[in-house]
Amino acid sequence: MSYYAPTFGNVNARWYSDEKFDAAWTPECDALLEEYSGRYAPFLLAYIPRFQREVLARLKIKLSSQNIDYAVLTKAAHNPKILEEWTSKHSKLESVVRECLFCAGDFGLLDMHPNVIRNCGTDVRWCRGCNYSFWRYASGWSEDLEMRVRRAKVSAHEKRKCQWCSRGYNLLKHFHSSRSFADQGMVLTTVIGHEDLAACHAGVDFLYPNLYANVCPECFAECFHPVKRVDQSEILTAIRELGEMIGKVPTQDFDSYMYLFSSRESITAFIDLMHRLPSPEEIKARFGSFFGGIARSGLLPDGARRMKIGTMVEADDGDICFSLPERDIDNWMFAQGIRHRKEVKYPNSDLRCDWELIGFSQRVFVEYFGLMSRAAYVEKARKKSHLATRAGIRLIEIFPDTDWKLQIAQITTELNGATTWSPAVIS
Ligand SMILES: [Zn+2]
Ligand SMILES: [Zn+2]
Repeated sequence: MSYYAPTFGNVNARWYSDEKFDAAWTPECDALLEEYSGRYAPFLLAYIPRFQREVLARLKIKLSSQNIDYAVLTKAAHNPKILEEWTSKHSKLESVVRECLFCAGDFGLLDMHPNVIRNCGTDVRWCRGCNYSFWRYASGWSEDLEMRVRRAKVSAHEKRKCQWCSRGYNLLKHFHSSRSFADQGMVLTTVIGHEDLAACHAGVDFLYPNLYANVCPECFAECFHPVKRVDQSEILTAIRELGEMIGKVPTQDFDSYMYLFSSRESITAFIDLMHRLPSPEEIKARFGSFFGGIARSGLLPDGARRMKIGTMVEADDGDICFSLPERDIDNWMFAQGIRHRKEVKYPNSDLRCDWELIGFSQRVFVEYFGLMSRAAYVEKARKKSHLATRAGIRLIEIFPDTDWKLQIAQITTELNGATTWSPAVIS
């Protein structure tokens, strides 16, 4: 049985009840649930954690239940408008089968685990098994990326020449391999059928850099070597270069950074850096803590408040933020009902904005520039401003001393204050 049918867990039989949950529920919760149904049905199950957080952020109501999935879905099944929409959207999808872009196997959208839908949305192009290796592709998905994957598949048997060591290799044997900065020199294997498909799965897949450049399995593996024999000042230089390349204070999730780049030039430069960059564990060992290494590298702006560094912070709506001020901004927008997406690319560029706001008459990007004391960062900010102007994008630039609530509110009001939700696209 599908995760996404109104018959899931027999919620349509209305057997599940929870007094405390029912007491907290208000008509506003129903209205928000109807919005969710419009956007996400039949995939409501995948968005329940988000719904719960949004009810808290916007309506200040804390919904809790022994089984929050059943509790919310029961409410949905009680609502005739939602039930009708849910049923019809579900039956339309029942016969839809897609071909996995990576392994060419068939998969049904309704068979996808809720975590995959949460990560990739309903336009997911790959099966559950392939999601282990390739889930990070979801955030930067584009026609260009799809074309590159297709081309790599067709030419997987062809001989390539490594840019670093000049050895010959092809993609066949390692098409689904990945390595991680958390490896202790072992090859990560793909575990198919594991239940937990959350976005914390570690690893950089071998295919990704090879979509843009030519890196053989040995030179790829070298990026993840646990100890790179370099002296202290070389390590600090590498950390500083990392911060400059990604335009942020790095967190320990080094595996995620490869996916910020999408040209031969930038991927090549990043692999060059990875060959010198120690793992977060090695940084901890050398400097006492990850933060210690970051601080010594000179990446932090003068007088910066000590931010929570070393872990990415999750905002109320599940967005991953790279600093506490960034999370505050994200939470505020979520509570205001301002729809947004994280880390969207500037047109014709590898650079990404912190947020794109959705539902306005003009494209709006928001940047939090927290590191303006560094020359390289100022340079990047200038470039972003130029890219935005050229593409007709309204750019909201936030600096540490900006009254950003006022700034965002003014511009969103000016652009017609459209905080209405655009309907989910189900293809
Ligand atoms: Zn597949
Ligand atoms: Zn090589």
